[in-house]
Amino acid sequence: MIKNTKLYSILFEKCPKCCIGDFYKDKNIFSLKTFVDSPNNCHHCGEAFEKEVGFYYGAMYVSYGLNVGLGVGLFSLTVLVLNFSLFAFLGTYAGLILILFQWIMRKSRLIYINLFVHFDKSKQ
Ligand SMILES: [Zn+2]
Repeated sequence: MIKNTKLYSILFEKCPKCCIGDFYKDKNIFSLKTFVDSPNNCHHCGEAFEKEVGFYYGAMYVSYGLNVGLGVGLFSLTVLVLNFSLFAFLGTYAGLILILFQWIMRKSRLIYINLFVHFDKSKQ
């Protein structure tokens, strides 16, 4: 149903052009040395993943947005609904960011490249 969409590419970490090739070399997000390493080109369609030097610096803005969204959502849940103290919220938020750091960074890069690369049916 969502195959061949940007959402599929982001969720399953696939090439945004063909939705078949893997975007990352290593599927293990807990490998601190290689968790954001991606091949230079898609092994299926040949799409370049490194558009230019420093291309993924823009993913920092996506990451910032995801972290702010997470913070607002967590604040709404913990402080406004569950009546946590502000310090309990900040501790929970800091812990959650530390746990989700690699996941958010990987998703940010995928969201960012999906802004510029669109699905091409002829590449399948
Ligand atoms: Zn591809």
